[in-house]
Amino acid sequence: MTHLTPGPIAGRTPRAETPHPPRPTTRLAPAPPEADHDWMRRSVCANSDDPNAWFPAGNTGFWLQHIEDVKAACRTCPVIAECARLLKHLEAHGEVAGIWASTSEADRMSAKRQKQRAQAKARYSEKRRVAA
Ligand code: SF4
Repeated sequence: MTHLTPGPIAGRTPRAETPHPPRPTTRLAPAPPEADHDWMRRSVCANSDDPNAWFPAGNTGFWLQHIEDVKAACRTCPVIAECARLLKHLEAHGEVAGIWASTSEADRMSAKRQKQRAQAKARYSEKRRVAA
């Protein structure tokens, strides 16, 4: 009896084991706590002629005024509170693109940096207090 050694099948070499399963290219945040998203239908952006305006292509020059105009439109939105809640939920799972609840990406990034600086300062103060 011929003993066959395991090897390539029909000219194909076995694929190397991947250490991790392939990751999806886009990350989706888990569904927010409240299941009812009917409020979105009442939003200014969803009822706008140009919903893409909430996703500006830049944040300098022409776009600065555009962003301010869109943020002003958000301030008239009847569901800004719901929008802000959803934004907070999504931000906990990663970066969020576009203008939400009258905040631009730059505004949110700046607020995040300020918070991180304040936390770092508090940690440093605590370390100095403990070391003293
Ligand atoms: S507050 Fe939110 S829901 Fe309302 S217009 Fe702005 S981005 Fe849209």
